[in-house]
Order: sequence, then structure tokens, then C-alpha cells
Amino acid sequence: MSESPHPITRRELLSRGMSLAGVAAIPLLLQSRSAFAIRPEVMHYTDAGANPAQVCAKCNSFIPGKTPDAIGECYIINRGAAINPKGHCDAWSPKP
Ligand code: SF4
Repeated sequence: MSESPHPITRRELLSRGMSLAGVAAIPLLLQSRSAFAIRPEVMHYTDAGANPAQVCAKCNSFIPGKTPDAIGECYIINRGAAINPKGHCDAWSPKP
């Protein structure tokens, strides 16, 4: 068996592997904020927020439905999850 004219060290191999992993992650980072969505229960989501001033409809992450009272979605909570405009979770943040 012939040896490679340019043997690669384990350090070089790991370094190249890490570089490839970094390049592979770029498309994931370029996706929308929903790529980082989490399950509702993790953020203690509830359909009825206790504080009317801090409900989903007044949150920066809320994606409204077709009407003000319609179920919407959220950039933080899993896309596709039904988010009540009167709901609330630990990630509530005011609209700018
Ligand atoms: S309060 Fe939580 S669930 Fe409601 S829109 Fe904001 S981040 Fe999403």
C-alpha cells in the first residue's frame, strides 16, 4: 500500500471537519427566527394571560391571525402552534 504524498495529521483533519461543520450551519442560521422555535410548555404558554397589558396580541413576537381576535402564531413558539391573542408566555416582550 502506498502512502499519501501529503499525510494529514489528526489536528488538520479535526480542523477541516470543524470548518465543514461551520459551513454546513450557515443555511440554518440564515433561516427565519422560527428556526429557533420552542414548544409552548417550555415557555409556560397559556391561552389566557393574567395581565391584559402583556398578552400575545401586544407582544413583539406575535404573528396575528386574519382578525384581531383570531388565533395567530409566534416567532418564538413553534410555528404552526395555535397562539391565542389573549395568551401569554415567559418570552413576552413589548412591541417597539
Ligand atoms: S407572549 Fe409568548 S407566545 Fe405570546 S406572542 Fe409573545 S412570545 Fe409568543
